[in-house]
Amino acid sequence: MNTRETLKINEKGHLEIGGADVTKIAESFPTPLYIMDEDYIEKICNVYSQTLKEVYGDDGLISYASKAFCCKEIYRLISKFNLGADVVSSGELLTAKSAGFAADKLIFHGNNKSRRELELAVTSGVGYIVIDAISEIDLLSEIANKFGKKIKVLLRVNPGVEAHTHHYIQTAKVDSKFGFSISSGAALSAVKKVIGSNLILSGLHCHIGSQIFEIKSFLLAVEKMTEFYKELKEKLSLDLSVLDLGGGFGIWYNDEDKKFSINDYAEFIKSIAEKVKECVADKKIKKPYLILEPGRSIVGEAGITLYHAGFIKHIDGIKDYIAIDGGMFENPRFALYSAKYTVVAAENMNAIANKKYSIAGKCCESGDLIAEDVYLPEIKEGELIAVLSTGAYNYSMASNYNRNTVPGVVFVKGGNVRYVVKPQTDEDLLRNDI
Ligand code: PLP
Repeated sequence: MNTRETLKINEKGHLEIGGADVTKIAESFPTPLYIMDEDYIEKICNVYSQTLKEVYGDDGLISYASKAFCCKEIYRLISKFNLGADVVSSGELLTAKSAGFAADKLIFHGNNKSRRELELAVTSGVGYIVIDAISEIDLLSEIANKFGKKIKVLLRVNPGVEAHTHHYIQTAKVDSKFGFSISSGAALSAVKKVIGSNLILSGLHCHIGSQIFEIKSFLLAVEKMTEFYKELKEKLSLDLSVLDLGGGFGIWYNDEDKKFSINDYAEFIKSIAEKVKECVADKKIKKPYLILEPGRSIVGEAGITLYHAGFIKHIDGIKDYIAIDGGMFENPRFALYSAKYTVVAAENMNAIANKKYSIAGKCCESGDLIAEDVYLPEIKEGELIAVLSTGAYNYSMASNYNRNTVPGVVFVKGGNVRYVVKPQTDEDLLRNDI
């Protein structure tokens, strides 16, 4: 476990998060349940924005990647620490707006935004729209005319940096569905098209992948991006004022991953910001407004999911399955990309974990697992199981597969537990059926 003051084993041998014993939480809240450590999110937001300010001054913004975990309360929380946010759909945009989040601190991404979404972004007054397709330039120009607005855009480019991560979440390779490749010349052509339009090209954006622990991947991205800024200055006399480097910092899921403390993340921010300063000085380009978009590292380790063990299936000489009351409808990451997790016996944390289990969900898919071949003490039906580091890309990826309801989300702080998203009800499931 990557323990901390707000995620530890208590004197009863139970898992404790945010000062609350999970066995107590389970007495009042139904499982499956997403539990988020509010203190952790606050600390990391604070450290991220303070560190960027210290190293880079006021010309920077930490823009939380909402896709990692989106609900009204997270926008309220991050705004206390002066973070911006990036959104990728009208749904995320509306959630932010309805939480009172400042629209001009939103960045709207997406590789296939609809006209409706773009119009909503424009009329809402988002800070920047990130262009990710040639036709989007024409569509957005037309919208700018329709509403008589000056629209600030960033262009998503692909610097060709390969980050070490699972290939499904590697997004900056030349064959990626995202971004205009710098090396192929597509980025230069797109830049020319934008500057020939009525849109305001503020800068460029890249995102080199996710779950990255190697700082050198980010530093290389800074090199390549600033090199391209220099080329644009030389060839087109363009001095771009914004550089958005995306997100991607890795988190601990199991012991194959590094254990980063909040200070380690601060070091990442420092190194990236220093590198930008160094590169712009070397290349004699304008110091850009620097945007970083971490998602997973803000909420991932803050979250755990709590389940009750259901039926246990023993297949002689082959496998022992624990079926839980959740599954791929609330955490599809194993089914999507064989994601690894740490699973713990939440009410028996000090017992020796000497029995191998696979954790199966309740959906009608053989691939509906949460973890395979993990070690736990002997588990009995009805006991509590917790899966760690589920704060990112779990609730936000949940579905109603098999007409299961999406679980609720609680925030925990100083031992107090409160719903920030109520669990879906059976009525919610039937609401849109004719
Ligand atoms: N920004 C963009 C454009 C992304 O596509 C992503 C994730 O896919 C992020 C930020 C957040 O990345 P992470 O959650 O790994 O920090």
